[in-house]
Amino acid sequence: MIDFEPDHDLQRRIDAYRIVARQIMRPISREYDENEHARPTKFYELMWAGRAQAGLEVGPDKGARSNRMRTLFTILAAEELSWGDVGLFLQIPNPGLGGAAVMAAGTPQQKERFLKRFSEGNPKWAAMAITEPGCGSDSAAITTTARREGDHWVINGTKIFCTGGKMAAELSEGFVVVWATVDKNAGRAGIKPFVVEHHTPGMSVVRVENKLGIRVSDTAALVFEDCKIPLDNVLGSPEVKPEGGFKDAMATFDATRPIVAAMAIGVGRAALDFVRDFLSERNMEIRYGLSPQRLTAIERDFMEMEVQLKAARLLAWRAAWLLDNGQRNSLEASMAKAKAGLAVTQITQKAVELLGPLGYSRAYLLEKWMRDAKINDIFEGTQQINLLIIARRILGYSSKDLN
Ligand SMILES: Cc1cc2nc3c(=O)[nH]c(=O)nc-3n(C[C@H](O)[C@H](O)[C@H](O)COP(=O)(O)OP(=O)(O)OC[C@H]3O[C@@H](n4cnc5c(N)ncnc54)[C@H](O)[C@@H]3O)c2cc1C
Repeated sequence: MIDFEPDHDLQRRIDAYRIVARQIMRPISREYDENEHARPTKFYELMWAGRAQAGLEVGPDKGARSNRMRTLFTILAAEELSWGDVGLFLQIPNPGLGGAAVMAAGTPQQKERFLKRFSEGNPKWAAMAITEPGCGSDSAAITTTARREGDHWVINGTKIFCTGGKMAAELSEGFVVVWATVDKNAGRAGIKPFVVEHHTPGMSVVRVENKLGIRVSDTAALVFEDCKIPLDNVLGSPEVKPEGGFKDAMATFDATRPIVAAMAIGVGRAALDFVRDFLSERNMEIRYGLSPQRLTAIERDFMEMEVQLKAARLLAWRAAWLLDNGQRNSLEASMAKAKAGLAVTQITQKAVELLGPLGYSRAYLLEKWMRDAKINDIFEGTQQINLLIIARRILGYSSKDLN
C-alpha cells in the first residue's frame, strides 16, 4: 500500500523548510524579482552550509533518506521551498537537471566522479542543455555535434534557455550536461549526454535571458566552439545502439518532472494561502461541508482551486513513489507535470482575479506568483508535449504514430 504520511523525521525536515521558506525566502522574494540578474549570494551560502542538516546533500549515496524515499523527499522539499520563492528554489546550489542526467545515464564511476563535489567545498551548480534555437519539444532534432578526435570529444553547437547555465559553467566548479549527436544519420539513437566541466575552453555563456517570471533564476545561452572534453565524459556508453542514448533524456525527465510539478504546487499553495488569509482578515471564512447551493461564488471558486491543487499533489507523490520503488513512472511523471502546470496557472490567475486590483498590484506577491507559475507549463516538456506522452502511453502508440 502507498502511504504518504510523513514520519517524525520527515515532518521535522518539512517544518525546517517551512521556516526557511517563510523567514528567509519570502523577505527577499520581491527584491530579486525586481533586480533580475542580481545574485542572492547570502542565500546561496546559507543553503549550501545547511544542506547536510536539511537533507539536501546530494550525491550517489547521499540524501537524508534511503534511496527508497529520495524523490518523494525531494518533492516535499521542493513544494515547501517553492512556496517561499520558486525562482530562489531553482537557484539553490545543487546538481539540478545536470545531476539528474548523470544519475539517469552515468556509470557508477561517473556518478561518483561528477556528483561527489556537491558534498564538499564551495557552492556548486550543474545544468543540462538540450534546447537549441531550432529545437526544444522536438529534441530529436538536436544539431549540436560531438566528434571524436583522438582521446577527446569535440563539441560544437549552440544551446539556449539553460537553467543555471551561468552558475554551472562560469561561476562555480560545476558542469553542464550537453546533449549532442555523435551521428546525425542515426537520429535519436545518435544523441548522447556529455559532461562539460566549468571553464572548459570553447564553452562560453553568451547571454543570460530577461524573463517574465522566475527572474532570479539564471537562464543562459551557451555556445560551444571546438570545445574539447575527455573521452570518458560521455555519460554511459558511447556506442550508437537502436534503443539509443535518447532514452536517457527521457529517464532524466521521469526523475525531474515530479519535482517541477511540486514546484508548481508550492506556488499554487502560496496563492491559495494568500487568498485564504486575505478573506479571513475580512471575516470571510471558507465554510466547508455546506451544500453547493449555500456556498458563495468565492467559496466555490476557492474549493475548486484547492481540489485542483490536491489532485496535482497526489499525482506528483505517486510519480515520485514509483520512481523511488524502482518502477517505471513515465506516464505518471507526465501526468503530474501536465496537471500541476495547468492547475497552478489557473489557480494563480483566479487568485489575482478574486482580489481585483490588489491582486494586480506589486504591493503583494500574488501578481509575481502568476508570472512565476507559467514556466511550469513550458520547461521540461510543455503542457502539450506531456499530454502527447500521456496519450501515447495510454493508447500504446509510439512517437512516430502520434506526434
Ligand atoms: C525559463 C526557462 C528555462 C529553461 N530551462 C531549460 C534547461 O535547463 N535546459 C533545456 O534544455 N531547456 C530549457 N528550457 C527550454 C524549454 O524546455 C523549451 O522551451 C521547451 O521544451 C519548448 O521547446 P521550444 O522552446 O523549442 O518550443 P516549441 O517546441 O517550438 O513549442 C512551441 C509551442 O508549440 C507546442 N508544440 C510543439 N510541438 C508540439 C506537438 N507535437 N504537438 C502539440 N503542440 C506542440 C508547444 O507545446 C509550445 O506551446 C527552458 C525554457 C525556459 C523558458
